[in-house]
Parts: sequence; structure tokens; C-alpha cells
Amino acid sequence: MPAKSMEDLVSLCKRRGFIFQGSEIYGGVKGIYDFGPLGIELKKNLRDAWWGAMVYERDDVEGIECALLYNRLVWKYSGHEDTFSDPLVECKKCHTRMRQDKMKDQSKCDNCGSTDLTEPRKFMLMMKTNIGPVDDGSSFAYLPAETAQGTFINYKNVVDSTSRKIPFGIAQMNQSFRNEITPRNFLFRTRQFEQAEMQFFVEPGTDEQWYDKWKEARKEWWKEQGLSEENMRFEPHPENDLAHYAKAAGDIEYKFPHGFDELEGIHNRQDFDLGSHTKAQADFDIQANVMKNTDSNMKLNYLDPQTNKSYIPFVIEVAAGLNRGIIAVLNEAYTEEDLGDGKSRLVLKLKKHLSPIKAAVIPLARNNEEIVEKAKAMKTRLQKLGLGRILFENSGNIGKAYRRHDEVGTPLCFTVDFDTLEDGTITVRDRDTMEQIRIKEDEVEQYLINYLKG
Ligand code: ATP
Repeated sequence: MPAKSMEDLVSLCKRRGFIFQGSEIYGGVKGIYDFGPLGIELKKNLRDAWWGAMVYERDDVEGIECALLYNRLVWKYSGHEDTFSDPLVECKKCHTRMRQDKMKDQSKCDNCGSTDLTEPRKFMLMMKTNIGPVDDGSSFAYLPAETAQGTFINYKNVVDSTSRKIPFGIAQMNQSFRNEITPRNFLFRTRQFEQAEMQFFVEPGTDEQWYDKWKEARKEWWKEQGLSEENMRFEPHPENDLAHYAKAAGDIEYKFPHGFDELEGIHNRQDFDLGSHTKAQADFDIQANVMKNTDSNMKLNYLDPQTNKSYIPFVIEVAAGLNRGIIAVLNEAYTEEDLGDGKSRLVLKLKKHLSPIKAAVIPLARNNEEIVEKAKAMKTRLQKLGLGRILFENSGNIGKAYRRHDEVGTPLCFTVDFDTLEDGTITVRDRDTMEQIRIKEDEVEQYLINYLKG
């Protein structure tokens, strides 16, 4: 049972320390959020799941991480400097600014309903900063609007430094910045966000097959993160509305609290990017007056060692947003359970690999030194297993502790009590079933390993 509204999620995230408004004590910054103690664990777990599936569990993808500051020419030749903009209209009456293609009715202001709107103008989405001590306009740089370009400009480095043969991919997770006109819906549309992108380089002619394969693989992966089939759909972009680089594109959409919307884009970028960086190299050599490389229009070509065929690979791109992924998995896990007798509980039924806290160790009597010391020692032993965060929870009564851990999705609680001192057993409480069983305290490590790995 997903959350009833985005407000439910916002409130849980703030209350339990998942996500906070950025710079909150100074009034915040629109479209900017900070991750709290549990949010950062959840994000790390989602990242690890993506990296594991993309890089470790496959034998045809390498990972990289690029710096956030690029030579400005990258964004010139990628086409972003000229085209990475959204249509902005302003209401002449209330001065609300809106992104035209996302308006409910393009003839009326979203805020006051006036039909007196300006003509749309292109609004540049890339943010700027300055590199170096001179601020005379010549040293500006863009913050990245996507991770893909860093991958394209390192494509040759990866080919030359590994034994990769086409088809193969390059995965990258990194921060992106877009000066969104109307950030909205919590983490859904923000001005800074983390992307998880993989560009898969293929021989032209095999691109359509790979597009279909990746579309399916990515839907499956989201299901493994807990998203249910009925809350996901694939929406192809209409042919007359494709991005300038795309031969085919579509979105994996998820039913967010505000409705179905894009979670991940799947794009057939053809040879657009490698092709334009290749052409740009010739230009660049001439402008920089460096030795003209007569082969410069071959720079990002791939030479097939078996057939000796040389070509610019086509690229199938899968581009997900971690922020949107976080709201989707939180929304899907959010469950209000009726316990009968007028009682209810809120439980976050996250997949265990995503849970921010893997287990809580709770001493039943806060003031009993022996019980507390045993619980602390157990936390240390469990933490050393390297399975994720284990929390020593000594903050209140046991009922409240269980409720708190239900709300943040901790799958298991281990409670050390008076019986532990007598017979060496502890209580294990399961988040989803609320069942409690007793196990021997010296079997707790194996129990946790079996549970998390099973
Ligand atoms: P939209 O149409 O919603 O503006 P987009 O098509 O421009 O998104 P892409 O460029 O395909 O998005 O980016 C890939 C992914 O990055 C998206 O599927 C989304 O998950 C994420 N993303 C893009 N823009 C934002 C944003 N402003 N805030 C949070 N995530 C974003």
C-alpha cells in the first residue's frame, strides 16, 4: 500500500532523518535537498545495488567517475550550450514563471488562471561557475547537466586501457545540475540530483536489439528494488518529439504520489555524441594550432580487431535518477497497517538490501549494566560482519523502539533481556510479521548472515 500523498513521504523523511530541505535554517533553497543519517544509507544501498547489477554482475560494463568540472568545449560540441534549454513563459499578471511543456493548460497561468502570458523563450538549464582566479567572463565553466558527456570523452581512454571489445558499456553515477524553472514534487524535480547512467556502445545495425534488451533489463532491476509491476509502465517518446540525438527513446515511468512520471530514460543516441566529439577534434586541432592529426576524424572510431571494420559505435543509454528512485522505493514500501482494536502501525517494507539499518540491537533494561554491555558487544560483533549499518538502540522503551524501527524499515531487532543472562538466548523480532522468536546469542551472527544473504 503506497503513501497516500507526497506529504506523507515528506513528513516521514523529515521526522526520521532521511531528507531535509537544503540550507533549511536560512529559509532553504528551492529544489535543493540534503540527505540525513538514514537517507544517506538508503541512497548508498540503492547506489550499491545499481553498481552491483551494472558493473560487478556483468562482464561487459566498466565503471568510471568523472570530475564535475569540464573543459567548456565539451558542452559546446555536445550541443548542450546551444540546445539544453526549456521553454519558459511568464504570466504578465502574477509573474509566475512556468515551463511551457509541463503546464496543465498552455493557454492559462498555472497559478492565477490568467491567459495573458508572454511568448515562450528558451531558458538555459545549465548552471555556471568559474575556474581559476580571474573572473572576467573568459574562465566560466558549466556544471554538468548529465553524466553522459564525461563518459563519451573518456570512451577512448576506457577502450585503450582495458581489453573491452564492442559491445560493452561504461557506467557512471554522479551529480548533475539543472536550473529547473519549476522544481517541484519533493525530490522528483530538483536542481541538483544524482544520476545513474550507463552508455552501451554497439555496432550500428545491432542498436535496436540492444535497446529492447536494456529496456527489459532495467524494468526488471526496478522490480528487484521493490517496485511493483502495476506501478510501472514504459512510455515511448513519439517520433515527432525525440531529442535531437535520438533514434528512439522512452521512459520507464513509475506511479509517484503525483501520478505516473519518468523514473528512467532509455535512449538510442546513435553515433551523435561520439560523432560530434570526433568532428570537433579536427576543429580543435586547428584552433589550438597543434599538429594537425590527419586522422582526426577517426579519433573516436572503433576498429574491430576481427573484421578490421572501423566505425563510430552507436550508443544505447540508460539514464536513471537516484533521487526519483529514492521516492519510488520509499513510496512503494510505505505501509499503514491496521492492527485491530483501533491500533495501527506505519511500517516501511523496504527490500532488506535497501534498509538503512540492517538490524537494531536493543537492551531491554536501559539501566542494567550487564544487559547494556552484552547488547553493545553484540552490536560490535555484528557490525564487523560488514553487512551494513547495525544500530545500538538504547533510547526508550521496547515498544517505542520497535515502532521506530518499523517506520525506518529495519528488518530485524535483536533484544537482550533478563533471560539472556540466565540462558544465553535473545529475542529476534521480524519487521514484517512482527513475530518474535528466541535464538542463542552466540548464533546471532550466522542468523543475520543467513537472513540478509538468503
Ligand atoms: P524530465 O522530462 O522529467 O525533465 P529528462 O527527460 O530531462 O526529465 P533525462 O535527461 O533523461 O531526464 O535524465 C535522466 C534521469 O535523470 C531522469 O529519468 C530522472 O530520473 C533524472 N532527472 C532528470 N532531471 C531531474 C531533476 N530535475 N530532478 C531529479 N531527477 C532528474
